[in-house]
Amino acid sequence: MPLPGTITDPESPRPAVYPDETPETSVEQRICLACGFCCDGTLFDSAIVEPGERDRLPVKISARTGISGQQEYFTLPCPYFQGKCTIYEKHKAEICSCFRCRLLKDVAANELTSAEAMQIIHMAGTCRNEIIKAFQEVWQVTEELSFRLILDRLNGAELNDQTEPRRRALRLLIARGNILDTLLTRYFKPKQEFNRMKASVPVCSDFKGKVAKGYE
Ligand code: SF4
Ligand code: SF4
Repeated sequence: MPLPGTITDPESPRPAVYPDETPETSVEQRICLACGFCCDGTLFDSAIVEPGERDRLPVKISARTGISGQQEYFTLPCPYFQGKCTIYEKHKAEICSCFRCRLLKDVAANELTSAEAMQIIHMAGTCRNEIIKAFQEVWQVTEELSFRLILDRLNGAELNDQTEPRRRALRLLIARGNILDTLLTRYFKPKQEFNRMKASVPVCSDFKGKVAKGYE
């Protein structure tokens, strides 16, 4: 059973991008280079380590491994991500070579154009950066936390202990964070995960029907 919030996608190997690059993979590479959400803690807080893989992991990833039940994982953001993967052509974790998000699959299936995918990445990245900045101001921290860590802190915040202006600011940030999370799930994660999310939204069934329709 995968951990919640963990990259797991063994069923859809990423096409080999080196050395036999094809026009299609070039499009995927361009999209991924503009994105990085699966490496930088925007989409996931951890990624799976395959059985027996631990001893072969790059050193900085190896230092971030853990185990939950039977499943080994490493935590994200990845230390090798600096605007892009800095070890792309070197040996990486297996999940790094096989993960393809829903956005890439939708482009490959002509359900989205690459321009639309780029636009989604741009909009999501802008929203995320604004939330990170607003979080730093409201939380009064200078460290740049990943979006997933911020979401965890916001959703675990004890609002009753806050002054009214800070409580209002936190409520607004929580709403913005959860809206962005829903959109990220809609565009980047498997359909079932978005459907689960929709099913768990505590709204009246009529409204839920409309939300569901609008996002399909
Ligand atoms: S989230 Fe998708 S588009 Fe973004 S870098 Fe990962 S695989 Fe590429
Ligand atoms: S090694 Fe590269 S592809 Fe793998 S998680 Fe880190 S930055 Fe992403």
